[in-house]
Amino acid sequence: MEALDPYAVLGVRRRINAAGALTRLGGAVMAPEVVAAMAAASRASVDIGELQDAASERIAEATGAEAGLVTTGAAAALTLAAAASIARWDVAKMAALPHVTADILLPRTHRTGYAHALAASGARLVDIGHNDRGTGAGVRGLEAWEIEAALSPSVVAVGFSVNAASIVDLPTAIAVCRANGVPLIVDAAAQLPPKENLRRFIAMGADLVVFSGGKALGGPQASGILAGRRDLVASALLQQLDMDVAPETWTPPKMIDRTNLRGVPHHGIGRGFKAGKEEIVGLLTALDRFVKADDAADNAALEKRLKAIAAALSGLDVRLVPAEQTGRVPVLEIAVPDALDLSARLQRGDPPVHLSERHAARGLLTLDPQVLLREHDAALAAALRAAVQSTAA
Ligand SMILES: *Cc1c(COP(=O)(O)O)cnc(C)c1O
Repeated sequence: MEALDPYAVLGVRRRINAAGALTRLGGAVMAPEVVAAMAAASRASVDIGELQDAASERIAEATGAEAGLVTTGAAAALTLAAAASIARWDVAKMAALPHVTADILLPRTHRTGYAHALAASGARLVDIGHNDRGTGAGVRGLEAWEIEAALSPSVVAVGFSVNAASIVDLPTAIAVCRANGVPLIVDAAAQLPPKENLRRFIAMGADLVVFSGGKALGGPQASGILAGRRDLVASALLQQLDMDVAPETWTPPKMIDRTNLRGVPHHGIGRGFKAGKEEIVGLLTALDRFVKADDAADNAALEKRLKAIAAALSGLDVRLVPAEQTGRVPVLEIAVPDALDLSARLQRGDPPVHLSERHAARGLLTLDPQVLLREHDAALAAALRAAVQSTAA
């Protein structure tokens, strides 16, 4: 049976997405193999704890971590990581969240909009250090003494938002956290590709690392990964599972050692972030594809498409930035007089077109091909040409 076009049925327009795997545009466009795995997964009943145990083994293999958990996104993984750091195996604390006294240290250069997800656990975020690098005021980054001076018995974790600029400070944060027995939670949501990053932060010694499933991994939009220390990942799983169970008949996932628990917890703070069997299977299928992909060949193919698009934009100030420079996929940077005005007009067009606005303040719109459908290339170039000409007119 040919499926109806669900968006046409709802009267929702399809968009040309050259802005990347943005959540507000629905994230990744999944490969048919991932869609098929999700559909097959949907037609059965399974024990979600057993499925998460199997997921843990796959994630451990792909990341080098002791254990892993499929979450409903990197933001959910951050909340669960914080909840695990607060409660560990303490079921009373699990029951009390988010009403606890707990602090998470967060370097000022790492305070992103996603820090809210850490705070949602109930922890108070305590800013440390300064933001000289971020503001361009100075050269100094995070220093060991800044973390040490802020440590106190109420500190349950340190947060770290890793990227190409901040990674120089990661060994320092890891060393201080290790020495003091405080978990380090690394937000690496969008640090893929390169696929080496799946293992990199764990190998360096981070306790917990989160990745988005619906960005470059190409998994379901509402999926993510929490990978790291087995005890912490198990606590996170326990706080995510459906716990409407009879203590007499409950079979915990293998990851959870019941002798650590003084009782069976109630629904935890993660109950609202339940990962379904479809997301778990979809994420694992996407992860497998991502690990096996040939990044060099994929980037070469993207570059070829970008060159063709650039050729169709002759007269515009367009620069190809190769993957080696972006650290992920190749992009086109398009210099325009009023980037946000042009972007707004493209988004209002028919079809609506989205370019990345991340460098708009520098007068650049970025054509990010991460989830751009090949069949959209020509229409995208045409829409851009038309929008620029209508500005000039
Ligand atoms: C996208 C993103 C998140 C949130 O990821 P989701 O999978 O959408 O929940 C968190 N942190 C950073 C740095 C991100 O880029």
